[in-house]
Amino acid sequence: MKKYVYFFGGGSAEGHMDMKSLLGGKGANLAEMAGIGLPVPPGFTVSTEVCDLYYRSRKAIPPAVKQEVEKNLKKLEKATGQSFGDPKNPLLVSIRSGARASMPGMMDTILNLGLNEKTVAGLIAKTDNPRFAYDCYRRFVQMYGDVVLGLKPVAKDDIDPFEAIIERTKEERRIHDDTDLTADDLKDLVARFKTAIKEKTGHDFPEDPMKQMWGAIGAVFGSWMNERAIAYRKLYDIPESWGTAVNVQLMVFGNMGRDSGTGVAFTRDAATGENSFYGEYLMNAQGEDVVAGIRTPLPIIELKKDDPKAHAQLEKIRHILEKHYADMMDIEFTIQQGKLYMLQCRVGKRTAFAAIKIAVDMVGEKLISEKEALKRIEPDQLNQLLRPIFDPAEKETAIKSGRLLAKGLNAGPGAATGRLVFNSVDAEAWAKRGEKVILTRIETSPEDIKGMNAAEGILTARGGMTSHAALVARQMGRVCVAGCTDLAIDYATHQMAVGGRKLKEGDWISIDGTTGQVIEGKIDTKPSEVLQVLVAKSLDVKKAPVYQTFAKVMTWADAHRTLKIRTNADQPDQAANAVAFGAEGIGLCRTEHMFFGEGKIGPMREMILADTLDQRKTALAKLLPLQRRDFAGIFEVMKGRPVTIRTIDPPLHEFLPHEEKDQRALAAEMGVSYEKIKERVDSLHEFNPMLGFRGCRLGIIYPEITEMQARAVFEAAAQTKKKGIDVEPEVMIPLVGHVKELAHQEKLVRQTAEAVMKEQGVKFKYLVGTMIEIPRGAITADEIAAVAEFFSFGTNDLTQTTLGVSRDDAARFLRPYVEKEIYAKDPFEVIDRDGVGQMMRMAVERGRKTRPGIKLGICGEHGGDPSSIEFCHLIGLNYVSCSPFRVPIARLAAARAALLNPPAAPAKAAKPKKSGRKR
Ligand code: PEP
Ligand code: MG
Repeated sequence: MKKYVYFFGGGSAEGHMDMKSLLGGKGANLAEMAGIGLPVPPGFTVSTEVCDLYYRSRKAIPPAVKQEVEKNLKKLEKATGQSFGDPKNPLLVSIRSGARASMPGMMDTILNLGLNEKTVAGLIAKTDNPRFAYDCYRRFVQMYGDVVLGLKPVAKDDIDPFEAIIERTKEERRIHDDTDLTADDLKDLVARFKTAIKEKTGHDFPEDPMKQMWGAIGAVFGSWMNERAIAYRKLYDIPESWGTAVNVQLMVFGNMGRDSGTGVAFTRDAATGENSFYGEYLMNAQGEDVVAGIRTPLPIIELKKDDPKAHAQLEKIRHILEKHYADMMDIEFTIQQGKLYMLQCRVGKRTAFAAIKIAVDMVGEKLISEKEALKRIEPDQLNQLLRPIFDPAEKETAIKSGRLLAKGLNAGPGAATGRLVFNSVDAEAWAKRGEKVILTRIETSPEDIKGMNAAEGILTARGGMTSHAALVARQMGRVCVAGCTDLAIDYATHQMAVGGRKLKEGDWISIDGTTGQVIEGKIDTKPSEVLQVLVAKSLDVKKAPVYQTFAKVMTWADAHRTLKIRTNADQPDQAANAVAFGAEGIGLCRTEHMFFGEGKIGPMREMILADTLDQRKTALAKLLPLQRRDFAGIFEVMKGRPVTIRTIDPPLHEFLPHEEKDQRALAAEMGVSYEKIKERVDSLHEFNPMLGFRGCRLGIIYPEITEMQARAVFEAAAQTKKKGIDVEPEVMIPLVGHVKELAHQEKLVRQTAEAVMKEQGVKFKYLVGTMIEIPRGAITADEIAAVAEFFSFGTNDLTQTTLGVSRDDAARFLRPYVEKEIYAKDPFEVIDRDGVGQMMRMAVERGRKTRPGIKLGICGEHGGDPSSIEFCHLIGLNYVSCSPFRVPIARLAAARAALLNPPAAPAKAAKPKKSGRKR
């Protein structure tokens, strides 16, 4: 026979914690606690399957279920020594909902069920407390009248009809507080409530406890489909088919006098993760009083004085529960006349900070394994350990006082506060004077690099997650809010309008790159301990507990991941940061960023403006030693780790000024006419520069550029090698769609390498490979792999070209697209597995078919995104490359990808070998 009802109590239970789908979270955990001998008031759970039956039987409880409930009620009577409806010794129960997933406050509850005109006398006799008994009765009639019989406010501004009656009674009695109502007043209220119910709903209040029971169980099932519950399910993706269970349980009272009380607690601090008991309670109160905020609850430590026995018992239970569940738990308890009861337990919600600390501590306490700890920490939660954060209280006050100006994309996590500046020159100048600045631009371009570096944070009005501002900010470890479309920035007046306010240069502003919030004024930030140890090297490891926690997670992650982690860096200091964070190589050095460094933009522009090959070569000869120095600096920091250096990629117009004033200044500086500059800028203009004259196309039309860059790479390699430092350069050709493009460039690179080795008399290993970032490259990967020794997926461009969506200004429709769930996530942030991902998978398969040992990696921004990293693991890449500050996140994400996707077992099980090793 099918079982619908599960009993718990008296040291045993028919259910357990793994039966959440059948018993709901509350029911399963009550059963579990009862089963391990914790003091749970006995009761039974009507399963979630009955919820479905209830709706299929046109909102009726099927006879088979009724029979089982009756049987279990008898069992409950036996367990408690009380009888349902007995005027002398009445059993009172609570009826609560409980779905598989917690839906706090969304469904209905009824307390004190079983009371009527006769049983209330029994309760008085038992407690010798008529006021208490009538207060229970009053609460019951009120709840039942509302939930089951439907006496509720009609219009949204109506007050609750029961509260109205209470208010009227208090006025008549000329009293202020509910607590001043006497037993007679409460008795009178019960009568008035019943009359109101009859008048307004046409229903008599049921005196028969069994009738009360069926009404209440039906109402709880009915509340699964109330508006609140439906809205909540939509919000949290909870399927309607799950249904709720109904828990019927012996009532225990925290309001039976000074020796009674009730509370809620976490087995550890949910905010900090500290291993200390954390909670609140109130003596002589019911559960709702603790959460309602009418009386201020006391910290749990005070219970030691109020009821030392209960406190000690709770401490013991706290340890039992943590050991049993191997997790931090959230509990509810009641003390009835000195006896402690557990009413609920579930896995406690916690901050990211606490999640990490608890997971690591629990490994130390041998509650969970390293693997389990890694599975419990979301990679992005590590951000909380790395980033400066706003003082939470200060930020809340700022928002409450109306200082939140706007919200953009959370492009570079962390908190930054500084004064507004609207161009890079000012950012640099102000920073030099010791001012903290937030560089605020409509959008940024490579010209802004120095200003971005000088700023605490970067705020832009336009651009997505892979816009220039976003990716450079992440690489530099700058806080960034991008694509904040509400900003109306006026460069000319150095002002911006936002949310009806005007802000001018020098005004304080705070940006939260973790949430995308832009807040007016200054908010203090706290630096992260991990950065103080690893980057600034200003803090001793022994004095840095947060760092120690971080380091443990990293060590465990490294033991389990199979993906290697590289970084995108184009300056020695960025590379050094990345190595400190655990990078094992550079996956992308964008050489064009170097051209904006000290002294390089001049010769670069000279090269672009050259009319003849000779002029171009002269300019390139000036660039050669500068690039060589940059590369040598990186090689020295990387100490033999592989370094992928990409030949020039962006369209050339990006290196020339676009404003007339700047063009005139450049003309004067270079001794050429303004017209010549303007003519060259105009001639470089393209309708679609990202699909234009860029990438390997530049190196094919101007081979001397590739030659110069290759020479700079290899001469730097030779120079470093001569210093006794190993090198492993990998030259990468961007935007390849046809194997012949790559072959053309490869030949130049190899010729240069051989020439340099001969000239310098040193040998070093090097590779030549390509980016796979346009669909033709992915589709013909088998042909390309004949030439390429490695592929690196440029998923920024591959997403742009596969989706036909511009990476720089698609926010306008991409954000609504994500809201409408056309794409589940922004495809520039998280790899679109079904589209771009398939393109990658195909390239991996085809590339490996031609060259089985080909090295495969990713260097698009997705290389730092946990879900995309998992995908890279699944398609068998060798490494991911991401911005320096995301390296720890990538290490953890790679470990989780390996743990959550263990290799499939071989088709035929091999015969077990005898081995002395423990499994
Ligand atoms: C890419 O396209 O993914 C890439 C890494 O190159 P860039 O962002 O420089 O175009
Ligand atoms: Mg690219």
